[in-house]
Amino acid sequence: MDFVRIKNYIDGKWVEEANAKYEPLYNPSTGEVIGEVPISSRETALAAVESANRAYATWRHVPIGKRVGYLFALRAAMGKNLEELAFAIAVDQAKHISEARGEVMRVMQIIETACSIPTLIQGDTLEGISGNICGRVIRQPLGVFCGIAPFNFPGLVFGWFVPFAIGVGNTFILKPSTQSPLFMQKMGDIFTEIGLPPGVVNIVHGHRNVPESWYGSPDVSGVCLVGSTPTAKKIAAKCGEAGKRTMLLAGAKNYLVVMEDAQMDVFIENYLHSCYGSAGQRCLAGSIVAVVPEVYDRVVERILAASKGLKVGDAMDPDVYMGPVISKDAKEKIERYIEIGVKEGARLIMDGRNPKMPEKNKNGYFVGPTVFVDVEPSMTIVKEEIFGPVVAIVRVNDIYHALDLIRKQEFGNGACIFTQNLFYTEKFIQEANVGMVGVNVGVCAPHPYLPFGGIKDSLLGTDKVQGKGGIDFFTQAKVATIRFEAPEGKSEPDRVERCPKTGAVRSCVAQ
Ligand code: NAD
Repeated sequence: MDFVRIKNYIDGKWVEEANAKYEPLYNPSTGEVIGEVPISSRETALAAVESANRAYATWRHVPIGKRVGYLFALRAAMGKNLEELAFAIAVDQAKHISEARGEVMRVMQIIETACSIPTLIQGDTLEGISGNICGRVIRQPLGVFCGIAPFNFPGLVFGWFVPFAIGVGNTFILKPSTQSPLFMQKMGDIFTEIGLPPGVVNIVHGHRNVPESWYGSPDVSGVCLVGSTPTAKKIAAKCGEAGKRTMLLAGAKNYLVVMEDAQMDVFIENYLHSCYGSAGQRCLAGSIVAVVPEVYDRVVERILAASKGLKVGDAMDPDVYMGPVISKDAKEKIERYIEIGVKEGARLIMDGRNPKMPEKNKNGYFVGPTVFVDVEPSMTIVKEEIFGPVVAIVRVNDIYHALDLIRKQEFGNGACIFTQNLFYTEKFIQEANVGMVGVNVGVCAPHPYLPFGGIKDSLLGTDKVQGKGGIDFFTQAKVATIRFEAPEGKSEPDRVERCPKTGAVRSCVAQ
């Protein structure tokens, strides 16, 4: 691939700052520098707000069917460019090419859901509040929204925010992660290709000074983030002070619970996908496996055998199961957690540090599958988000013990159970203290028609992405109270039938 200089997309044009600062962009599979990313200034961040605000004045009044027409066009153009978009994700984020294709297709499904906005946005009316009084709720756009994306889902997070935000009539500015900007670079071309009016979607690259320039702007109505919990907490504090609405999806640590009647082949297949897919860098990745005593030894044996057979390598190689992690820093951080696990007394039965790689990948950021057993729930590797292919296997007495551990966790994104038993299934769905639950699946990501998001430290606030929640966050509910009176001198006929003797109401006459 040719060296790429990433640009900002503002007001429908690719733009560069006069004295722009750049940071290198790496291919994590090889460690090579493949391009450079602009670290934009406050002026550029605010120029995007100006453009989005100008666009809002007209975009808000574009008929809803026409706005949704752009979403149909966006979906079609993404389908046409699927391979290029997947390639972009597979290069800088180093997501395995088949998973990268899956991510693009998931974004297209989300856009399909957003195409139902003319139905989803409809309000409510309450007739007959009293006499001739009724109430009506309408949902309206607010203005400019800003979004901040994590490195690990450059496509999906665009899908969670942008189609819903613009479909209901807002305009948007997205700041991708500096570690995975290529997907949005391709999307900017697609916005131009489908004729999206300038300023409706803008892209600004850079670090935290970009969002920090937005909080104080009176033209910004809300900020949404998908990122780590510390980042979400900082944004929540700043946006709270500035009075901006926020939707903040944060960090995670997810349990896979294995009961004595679990179908072992189903569990193992899901385990591999959940714990090692995207090299464990997913907010719904399984990273703690809680097993009841009846099957503990068998589960450990099967996990070990399956993990040993798993091929680690270049994200573009179709024969590989797991690619690298995002950066040298991420690799070193994961290795530090492995060291902490060992120091705290967990038994390391598979060590993924420094796997042997072919010559062309020897500078890539690889960590192989790593498995700890006999892990105590109080250990750091159970409590903190590692965000890598590191799994802690914990022995639990029964389902209540597993539920208790999940309840005590600070994170509350997802949790999955493997069982054939209806009682265990229902107990788990009802009592697992998380936002998303899976039964016999390892990644409990809800379909785009349904809300996606956790609870506790995995979601700050209440709004979730996708489905109807996406509409609620990106619109404000306005309530009209309406009294209608008969014209002067034209009083209404009596609407009720009364008892001639007592005057009591017998029935309503009019419909
Ligand atoms: P991160 O928090 O380091 O960065 C996320 C984004 O926030 C980046 O664009 C970054 O530039 C920006 N940022 C960082 N500090 C900021 C600050 N102080 N103010 C404003 N913006 C700031 O996260 P990451 O490493 O890119 O992504 C991985 C994290 O995202 C993990 O914790 C993972 O669990 C989480 N995640 C959560 C979900 C979910 O649905 N809950 C989904 C995907 C990823």
